[in-house]
Amino acid sequence: SSPGVGAEKASAPVTVLAGPTAVGKGTVSAAIRARYPEIWLSVSATTRAPRPGEVDGVHYRFVSEEEFTSLIENGQMLEWAVVHGRHKYGTPRGPVEQKVVEGRPVLLEIDLAGARQVRQTLPDARFVFLAPPDWDTLVDRLVGRGTEDAEERERRLATARVELAAEDEFDVTIVNDAVDRAAGELAGLLGVRDLT
Ligand code: 5GP
Repeated sequence: SSPGVGAEKASAPVTVLAGPTAVGKGTVSAAIRARYPEIWLSVSATTRAPRPGEVDGVHYRFVSEEEFTSLIENGQMLEWAVVHGRHKYGTPRGPVEQKVVEGRPVLLEIDLAGARQVRQTLPDARFVFLAPPDWDTLVDRLVGRGTEDAEERERRLATARVELAAEDEFDVTIVNDAVDRAAGELAGLLGVRDLT
């Protein structure tokens, strides 16, 4: 069979998964965590508060503003960004470098601004864009999850419109038409097969 787009990066140790708000990056990452333990999912540091069910050190490292600033100042962030104009999120560098040395496939689930920074620092990384099947599906998901009020939703949709145009910057697009299928396609890109 012919190699797919981005196949030239088949051995890239680091894969960045980005995409517009509400596209389902979180659910695809959760599916990866559950079904493909071989893939190491980077644990981001964030200044936002934990949501119910989120475990410190598993879903995020929840840190204070001061800790976040000191991580940046000490050169310990691979990338970082203020997401949705509110909280800071960043990828701690050390664990990523360690997993690369160990030869584990590494996955970073980050926003677009972060992905652009990683392109500068790790140009050999593989960049995967998670896209919605269509615009209406994206709107339905954002409304359906009910985690934002109307004003915040409008802001995020405006951001999403701009972010959808960034698809061209990526090596590969995965359409999130169904979470398990999208997660399987992503795992396949990372050279990991489903054992279930
Ligand atoms: P949430 O607060 O809903 O968990 O995440 C909000 C956004 O932050 C998501 O779009 C997610 O991709 C982004 N994000 C999570 N971790 C990081 C990170 O380490 N760096 C960057 N740049 N964005 C992140």
